[in-house]
Amino acid sequence: MSKQIYNFGAGPAMLPIPVMQKIRDEFLDYRGMGVSVIEISHRSKEFDEIINRCDELVRQVAHLPDNYRILYTHGGARMQFSAVPMNLLPLKPAHKGVYSETGEFSRQANVEAARFGDIIVASSGANNNYDRLPPFSRDMVPDDASYAYITSNNTIYGTQYSEFPDMGDIPLVVDATSDIFSRPIDFSRVGLMFASMQKNLGPAGTAVVLIREDLIGHAMGRTPSLIDYTTYDKSHSLANTNNTFAIYTMCLVMEWMKEQGGVEGMAKINAEKAGLLYKVIDGSDFYAGTTFRDDRSNMNVTFTLPDDDLTQKFLQDALANGLYALKGHRAVGGIRASIYNAMPVEGCRALAAFMTEFERTSG
Ligand SMILES: *Cc1c(COP(=O)(O)O)cnc(C)c1O
Repeated sequence: MSKQIYNFGAGPAMLPIPVMQKIRDEFLDYRGMGVSVIEISHRSKEFDEIINRCDELVRQVAHLPDNYRILYTHGGARMQFSAVPMNLLPLKPAHKGVYSETGEFSRQANVEAARFGDIIVASSGANNNYDRLPPFSRDMVPDDASYAYITSNNTIYGTQYSEFPDMGDIPLVVDATSDIFSRPIDFSRVGLMFASMQKNLGPAGTAVVLIREDLIGHAMGRTPSLIDYTTYDKSHSLANTNNTFAIYTMCLVMEWMKEQGGVEGMAKINAEKAGLLYKVIDGSDFYAGTTFRDDRSNMNVTFTLPDDDLTQKFLQDALANGLYALKGHRAVGGIRASIYNAMPVEGCRALAAFMTEFERTSG
């Protein structure tokens, strides 16, 4: 094993080391077949076992109810910014979608959706540079809306819903790309949840959609078949050649998550990890968190230093200490530590210790 590096990159993000070791070990010879998992047919019995196992693990690990379907879709999360309105707006004649804009990804999502129907941004944090979650509740959503939309964790700004709003009869759509399976999910409040894989699940380019079955089958007439959820549902996501390597990797990640105690286990570990970093920030006049405390994220911890020179020095010294990819997004500046499921507690302990030492010597 090479020198220990902790990767705090926002995405593509680190994967659990045992998962990557397993991939390496199986890569040239998948279970005695003499060929690689990326060389076998998506219609083979071996791949069928992989995708079925992945489904089974999602149901077990995340407690997905029976009336929700699992779709493996092309094009990452951003393709869902189009797929959601194309599939769900026709649920009601007004073709209305209501969005809470809590960051760049929900902004992109509502801009894209506006190409397809009547899109309302009912709440927005734009005036506060998205440093908190604006209120978003059922009474802000008209009765003729087809769906209400949130981003559960705002990857760039470092905010996260501690619980989902209760939208009652209106299906809630959740972009959970940066926090899926990081904690238990209250599916009674969710109509559709999607996440691209590269933060908590596997490689980039593919997404998982968890959808209540009554929401399938309503797509606009001209929806491309590979964007229509019905196509994925009817073919077990294999209408064409899907990204078999991504699904295989996700399956291994789900096995790993099960060993960590499922979403309950992950939630506990994730709270501990974030707590180590927030403790340093809260106890310091040198570091300043960029978000409101009640809304801060357990996945992306964002903070600033007193000036740009110190920020640059922090990044350089951190890298020299094996702490990689801590630069904040340009929209916020400062530092962002992305600590998704795969980041071990030791990584956060190492960063917390580094922060304390850096403040002592440079502060
Ligand atoms: C990373 C991210 C996206 C973009 O994902 P792509 O797969 O690159 O389209 C969308 N939403 C959220 C919340 C993200 O964190």
